[in-house]
Amino acid sequence: MAERPFIYRFTRDLRLDDHAGLAVAALHGDVLPLLIIDAALKARLARSPRRAAFFCAAAAALDVELRERGSRLIVRRGSPSGTIKSLAAASHAPGAAWSASYDGGAMRSDERLRSELEEAGLMASIVHDAPAVAPDESAAAHSVPGSGYRAFAPYFEVWRDLPVRSHEHPLLVRFACCDLQSEPLPGAQEFGAVESADQAGPSVARDLFERFLREDAAHYAIAAVVPSEDRTSHLSAHLSFGTISARTVVRALRERLEDPFSLTEERLSYRRFLRAMAQRDFFLQLGWFYPRTRDEPLQERMRGFAWKQSHRALDAWRAGATGYPLVDAGVRQLEQIGWMHPLVRAVAASFLCFDLGVDWRIGRDEWDRRLIEDDEALATGNWQWVAGVGGDLAQYPRIYNPERQRRRHDPDGIYVRRWIPELRSVPVATWHGLAGDSPQLALELFSQDAYARPVVEHERAAREFLTRYRAFVSP
Ligand SMILES: Cc1cc2nc3c(=O)[nH]c(=O)nc-3n(C[C@H](O)[C@H](O)[C@H](O)COP(=O)(O)OP(=O)(O)OC[C@H]3O[C@@H](n4cnc5c(N)ncnc54)[C@H](O)[C@@H]3O)c2cc1C
Repeated sequence: MAERPFIYRFTRDLRLDDHAGLAVAALHGDVLPLLIIDAALKARLARSPRRAAFFCAAAAALDVELRERGSRLIVRRGSPSGTIKSLAAASHAPGAAWSASYDGGAMRSDERLRSELEEAGLMASIVHDAPAVAPDESAAAHSVPGSGYRAFAPYFEVWRDLPVRSHEHPLLVRFACCDLQSEPLPGAQEFGAVESADQAGPSVARDLFERFLREDAAHYAIAAVVPSEDRTSHLSAHLSFGTISARTVVRALRERLEDPFSLTEERLSYRRFLRAMAQRDFFLQLGWFYPRTRDEPLQERMRGFAWKQSHRALDAWRAGATGYPLVDAGVRQLEQIGWMHPLVRAVAASFLCFDLGVDWRIGRDEWDRRLIEDDEALATGNWQWVAGVGGDLAQYPRIYNPERQRRRHDPDGIYVRRWIPELRSVPVATWHGLAGDSPQLALELFSQDAYARPVVEHERAAREFLTRYRAFVSP
């Protein structure tokens, strides 16, 4: 190595372009790319086999891109502090940079690592890379400057006018070509998973996003509410592991929105998609400014609410066998592909919290075992939002009627039938009977011993929940 390199520790930012962390590291010299498999990462990957396979594929793809640039990923297993110190000693690097985390546990580890490195005389930089707009940029515009937003509407007002930076010049980042030892790249088996067919990595993410822009972005307003279309961006796992930059995505959509030759419907779709990206940034800044909220509701007044820790139908919810087709289809989609349509997530989560009255944390942790995405701040933020205990202006439980939602968003049952084979040959018109309206129809259907009976009666269960809720908030 000719010059002293600067270490860049990749975490959930497995790409080379439009990369805020690499841009900071490159200010100090050639970048020495490092991936550390520590106990926390191991635990997260071991929780979800699909997540592990996705991560390993993304890390391998990153290594290929680095080799094309004359470098390679240095992989080490162990504690971040010890690893960075020994690599710095071996390479004469004056310090390291990495990208910020947005959940309490990881943020505390980041801070600990920073002080340990600084105590050892090394530079340590933590850089906001995951959000399109960094928390401190939105906070600067807050009425109480420097503090985070607890409600989405005012956050979005500010977010949509804030500039989105670009670090689009990967060629300006030079990577160190080094002869330091590397351990093998992570393999899915290491985390108890089998290799999956899922493709991952920066070029897969780029292709997916380009296809979305070309074919689906202009129809996003429909895709977001019609699960059978399956034409939302499917970028969540890629954004979660940083194989694509949120800034790249937001800038491209803003450009589309500004195009005077777009149709009104197209503009509506672009706006709606940007709102979804702003929700992501909103929950990340919520995690950043309120890091204690992983297990603790953001709303102080809801902290003592007694959610049920079990329910006779909890296993049915877990298995996608509640007898409510939209809820069950969503859960089975998640089980089979590690992803669930956004609208269905809200309905299935609402069912757990209100029809069963079960703790939102149980639902979040259950999905965490199946999702590819690895975003604690987004999972916690969304579950708290559905449960009515999190960040919003309208702080109330979002109780969806699962059968009405199914009729509105999947009237022909196309989505439901895709995931529930038992219903493929049952006429949609009779499904309403499944929810208990028509005992005769229901009897006929259930005698085939096919699809589950409704585990609760929605209306009654929801009212029971509201009675408990009212007694708690206004005793
Ligand atoms: C109960 C519940 C739990 C959720 N858990 C997670 C989770 O663990 N990880 C996760 O990444 N997302 C989570 N979401 C948010 C959202 O449902 C997913 O990001 C979305 O389904 C991903 O599909 P997509 O990439 O096609 O999204 P698109 O609809 O194409 O949206 C584009 C991007 O915007 C972001 N986005 C969209 N909606 C939201 C939202 N409500 N909150 C934050 N970001 C959003 C995502 O990064 C998404 O990739 C959850 C939503 C709910 C209601």
